[in-house]
Amino acid sequence: MPEGRIIKALSGFYYVKTEDGEVIQCRGRGVFRKKKITPLVGDFVKFEADSPEEGYIIEINPRENELVRPPIANIDQAIIVNAAIQPDFSTTLLDRFLVLIEAKHIKPVILISKMDLISEEERKTIEAYRDDYEKIGYRVELVSSKESDGVLSIEDYFANVVTVFAGQSGVGKSSILNALKPSLLLKTAAISESLGRGKHTTRHVELVQVNNGLVADTPGFSALDFQEIEGEDLADCFPEMHERKGECKFRGCMHHKEPQCAVKEAVETGEISSYRYEHYLTFLEEIQSRKPRY
Ligand code: GDP
Ligand code: ZN
Repeated sequence: MPEGRIIKALSGFYYVKTEDGEVIQCRGRGVFRKKKITPLVGDFVKFEADSPEEGYIIEINPRENELVRPPIANIDQAIIVNAAIQPDFSTTLLDRFLVLIEAKHIKPVILISKMDLISEEERKTIEAYRDDYEKIGYRVELVSSKESDGVLSIEDYFANVVTVFAGQSGVGKSSILNALKPSLLLKTAAISESLGRGKHTTRHVELVQVNNGLVADTPGFSALDFQEIEGEDLADCFPEMHERKGECKFRGCMHHKEPQCAVKEAVETGEISSYRYEHYLTFLEEIQSRKPRY
């Protein structure tokens, strides 16, 4: 049975791209419908072709992960865009995105945008943060979409993977994508404002090709709460804490009030940044104080 990947979903049709690069317009007709599983963009599927252009999806292969907004499955990588300024760079917000992405087992890449707007002095501050995050093991790139070649340094990140962009509104996500691939022409703020908010709520999600990889044309992680994360799993979403797992005196240590905690010791010696640890405690409190879900 032929296989392919859903690259677009629109009005009950799924557009399945095969290895040969052909796109077949499919409807769903498999056993998955009884199980109430809806095919998602990004799904690998088996289909039956009625003609070279049309067919039916019969089976959805198991997913690595999935997002609700945008609805997309099997994401390899999330590029978190943070502006150096306008809006101000915030490690709290960056860490929030990192936790949400780590929890989904998606590989994060950190992008700091609008580097053309800051002074040499401010650049040093941003570079110090870059060093902190690189020490943890993250890849960090400083870019500007207003300079020629300003985003070329990130081209290689897209090859052979499915990427979703993340980051608060106005940080420059669409500008970066457009600079990478002018033919995409995603809406930048100026255009979407003139259209008025809320007009494109029905926009469908589509995977578009950038440098031999696929990128979701709608950013993800718009809901920034930790509803799906349990307190005891939070430290695993901080790689520098995760790597010290088992080193604390108490099993199940939450790295908070417990004595002889390897994480707290690493914060004291400066091996773990104190602001990262502070964010961990803030997030932990947020998770522990949420209402139970029934
Ligand atoms: P998005 O909401 O994250 O997609 O952000 P946009 O791409 O729409 O950008 C928001 C605003 O910031 C727009 O007015 C852009 O022109 C501007 N902008 C985006 N990237 C840069 C950049 O690297 N440098 C400068 N100076 N402005 C930028
Ligand atoms: Zn501990």
